Formats: sequence, C-alpha cells, structure tokens
Amino acid sequence: MNIRVGVATDIGQVREGNEDAYLVVAPLYAVADGMGGHRGGEVASSLALETVQQLFERREGTLADQVAEANRAIYDRSQSDRSVSGMGTTLTAALIDGNEVHLAHVGDSRAYLLRDGRLTQLTEDHTLVHRMVVEGEITPEEAETHPHRSILTRALGVDESVQVDEGDVQVETGDRLLLCTDGLTGMVPEEQIQEIMLGATDPQRVVDRLVKVANHAGGIDNITAVVLDFAENGGPGATGKSPIPRQPTVERSVPEAAPSQRSDNTIVGAPILEPPPGDSASRSEAPSASASSLPAVRPTPARPGSNRGRKVGIWAGVTISILVLGLVGLRLFLDTQWYVGVSNGHVAILRGIPSELAGFELHTVVIETSLSAAKAETLFAWRGLPGGITTDDREGANAVVEQIRKDLERAEQPAS
Ligand code: MN
Repeated sequence: MNIRVGVATDIGQVREGNEDAYLVVAPLYAVADGMGGHRGGEVASSLALETVQQLFERREGTLADQVAEANRAIYDRSQSDRSVSGMGTTLTAALIDGNEVHLAHVGDSRAYLLRDGRLTQLTEDHTLVHRMVVEGEITPEEAETHPHRSILTRALGVDESVQVDEGDVQVETGDRLLLCTDGLTGMVPEEQIQEIMLGATDPQRVVDRLVKVANHAGGIDNITAVVLDFAENGGPGATGKSPIPRQPTVERSVPEAAPSQRSDNTIVGAPILEPPPGDSASRSEAPSASASSLPAVRPTPARPGSNRGRKVGIWAGVTISILVLGLVGLRLFLDTQWYVGVSNGHVAILRGIPSELAGFELHTVVIETSLSAAKAETLFAWRGLPGGITTDDREGANAVVEQIRKDLERAEQPAS
C-alpha cells in the first residue's frame, strides 16, 4: 500500500493554547487531545505520542502495549511534577502494516474509515454520554448537545493502568482513514465530515477544509485531523502531489497557559481537569489580585525630613482605604461565585471560592447534600471534587450535584 497523508491542527476560535498533538511518522499515525491545568494538557498529549513513537522504534510490544506504557509515563510524570498533576490525554493511533491497520484507542478522539463513499466510525467514545446512549438513557441526538458530553470515562495518565481498545481493519485501495479530535466531531456533523472527505482528492485539502469548517461552526476547541489515503504501490498515490506533512513529528502549538477546561462548558471537563486541591486559589484572580495590591501601597522607606510623619499618615490612610475597598469588592465577588465541593464529608453546594485568605474561609456552605463525598471522589469524573468544581451559577451547581447523584446510583448497581 502506498499512503498519502494530510495533517492539520488548529487552536480554534476560543482556546488560548493548543493542547492537541499529532504524530505522523510512517507507518505510525496518531492524534491526542490533552487536558489539565497550566501546561498539563500539552505535556500529556505530547508525552503520550513521544512514548508511543519511542517504543515503536524500539519494537517493544504491540501498539496497545505502547499506549498502555504511555499511560504509565504520563501518570508517573503527573505524580512527580506538581505543576502538571492531574493531567491526562486521549490517544487514537493507527499503525499501518501492509493492508492491515492496527488501531489503539482511549478517550473521545476518533478514527473513521471512508469506503465506497460512506463514513464509518471505527472507535467507540469513552464518554459519559456515550455510556448513557448505550444504556438507553438518552438518544444519540441528545448526546450531541448534552451539557456533560465532554466528560471522559477513560483517559491516559489518570490511573496507574488503563484499558486500551484495540482492533484491526483491512484496508483496500481507495480507502481513506481519518483520525481526529473532538474539536472536529463536536463542531461538524458526521454527514458534513463525510461530504468533505468525499469532496477533494488531495488529503491535505481535506484536512484543511475540515479545520476551516470546524472553525466556522464556532471552533470552541482545538481541532486536529490526520487523513490517510491508501493506494496501490505505483498507483496514483505514488505520483500524487505533495503528501509530505508540514511537520513530520509530534507537534505542539503555542505553549501558552491554556484554560484548565477542555470544553466550552463550565461544568463539563472541570472535574477531570481541576488543578490539585491546594492549587485552587490560583484559578480565581480577584482575591489574589486584591491581596497582591496591598504591597504596592505600603509606605515607602521614609526619607528623613519634617514631613515624614505626615507622609506616613497619608500612606496609612490610602492603605486602609484600599484595603476596605478591596474587602468590599472581594465580598461582592464572592457572593457571585458558586461551586460544588465537600462539607462534613458530604457533597455540598457552596458560595465563594474553595480557598482561604489569611486564615479566613472565602466560602459559605449553601446546601449540604446526603451524598458521600468520599464515594463521589472514587468516580473518575468527580475526582476533582475536593478542589471544588466551579460553576457559572446556582443552577450549574444544582446540575453538577444531580449528575453526581446519578453517577453514584449507577456505580452502585452491579455491572451488567
Ligand atoms: Mn478536545
């Protein structure tokens, strides 16, 4: 088989950084969608791909084994480096071996096969909404717009071990394979992806169009797509124009601090991505801003002189005024902040921020539910509970509590 490749990754319209990564090193191809505060998402997605590539080059184990090792590498890093604690990533990889494509997959990135004009999804999303669809709780259409559609049930780097989906596909001449992150599938309906996949012969044109359309639809997430075209050796593919990817290795974009949420939705993703508990203060800017403004108005070392006392007095007045204004502002700010956290071992709705300032708690408990916080924390999606799951408003907090209640009920039922 002769393979032509198109590859594109894009930051999208909303995010401040690109936490997606791709690997295009024949015969190995993959996409990864990282998540985690600070630089965590970026570190996780590129570490996953680097690990798989290295193990492949050393011919160690199967593709699924290599992905499982990547899980371990990310997990170990997140345990040893506090700045990336809690990071994780999806990974969907394809290894081409003659007419056979080996696939390994964890998370909600996807692999699709276009054959005879029809697009078929080869991977299964490891998401809460997919599970709800399988269990008949919601329809596939409802899943597409469900507020919790970004909550993953499986990701690399979250636990010591991970279950990796694997499978083989026999490819034929004329087949086209797509690997992509949810920044594409979350924005562009499958029928439209199929249309674009059918609309151009050059795979690079296809991925460029996919990214363009996802951005046009809102681009709320990072978008990454890899397209592989299969042709006979010496066939049209062999003479095809410029199949060479622009960057033939792991690609990371703008290493800026990315927002810690992996979706547009405030509830979704937040549990997975919350910074570690002790770190929660850094998420809210207002209190730290008012705290850090204090040193700025500290009296400057007074020069010896007659007006020294007066100057100190003025400065003290200014300091106190700013302090009082700061506290009033802080109070007003805290009253508008909602989050779900823990109170007396129970899941609770709180107002304020999950932090304290100079020994004062910056939150008040509004409702303490009967749900066990310890049990909720054992569920993958709610492991960020101790650090607080911030929401836009009271309704958002209610929705999170409802979801935790449902998940706990589901977890208590024996596996079917
Ligand atoms: Mn994504």
